Amino acid sequence: MFVRIDSGQSLHRLLFDCGDGCLSSLTFADIQAIDVLFFSHLHMDHVGGFDNFFRCNFSRDAKPNVIFGPPGSGQILQHRFQGYLWNLHQELRGTWRICEVHSDRLQTWRYELVEAFSVAHEEDGKPFHGVLIDAPDFTVEALAMDHLTPSLAYVVREKPRSNIDVSELQTLGLRPGPWLKQLKEATPALEFIEVNGVSHSVSSLRQSVLTVTPGDSVAYLTDFLMDESALSRLAETLRGCKIIVCESQYCRTDQELAQRNYHMTCTLAAEAAKRVGAEELVLFHLSDRYTPDVWAGMLRDAQHIFPSTRFPDAWPTRRPGVGNPQASWAVP
Ligand SMILES: [Zn+2]
Ligand SMILES: [Zn+2]
Repeated sequence: MFVRIDSGQSLHRLLFDCGDGCLSSLTFADIQAIDVLFFSHLHMDHVGGFDNFFRCNFSRDAKPNVIFGPPGSGQILQHRFQGYLWNLHQELRGTWRICEVHSDRLQTWRYELVEAFSVAHEEDGKPFHGVLIDAPDFTVEALAMDHLTPSLAYVVREKPRSNIDVSELQTLGLRPGPWLKQLKEATPALEFIEVNGVSHSVSSLRQSVLTVTPGDSVAYLTDFLMDESALSRLAETLRGCKIIVCESQYCRTDQELAQRNYHMTCTLAAEAAKRVGAEELVLFHLSDRYTPDVWAGMLRDAQHIFPSTRFPDAWPTRRPGVGNPQASWAVP
């Protein structure tokens, strides 16, 4: 899943898993512009496109190279880094950090291109309480689910945005100026702001001239057992999440197979979206064992439980799978 977060002031690009062909619709520059890569887990169908990502970014120094993944990601990705001949790299610099998400801490490993990625440098761990990234305009949370190995579920939430109500400014006779930025960013400690030489209460100014728009949100759920315990944990963590992008490996009648392989069915995905109170469900990662007719039936089965269910926009011209860009989400 590729997520673009455009807050107006800044643009962030986040990639969730990197299966075979998932970057094929992006240009070289687009791939170089990806800020962070998040792996749910490292089964090969989620990593098959990593060579392409790494080819574009191995010596990137314009921005940090950061990858999040479950425990063990550092060792597996170091093998990927070292899986090439490095003999012309001495003049190049590239630092990569793999941040492993453990139950209560984040463990980061650093690898250097100048060392041909031969050394895993252990960095100081940090406590982890669910939030991986807390940026000024968005957050990314992670929750470890059970796929007979940890598979991380991710939630991206845009923070609420404050906009100036221009007509209210005119009504109150307040001239725009730097004080508006001060008002938007005001902390609770700031009680008064001076506007055109007159002191105003921050709280009453905020009430009258700021309109607050709630942020968008999207969750990425793939490859785990969806039982009652998983459903209730997700319902808690994903509360209020608008879009759920969820694997739908098996059809409704193959629930036993899904449980045995620690995967989901289309109807379990729909149950999850319903329980969370989402607005929209996007199904992906359908098994190749089924024909397109069966996929159509899986979509209908999910819609029966959760009507706002669809496949990603890029389908059905391409076969559903983890390799395709599953959903693009942009906040205008
Ligand atoms: Zn898997
Ligand atoms: Zn998979």
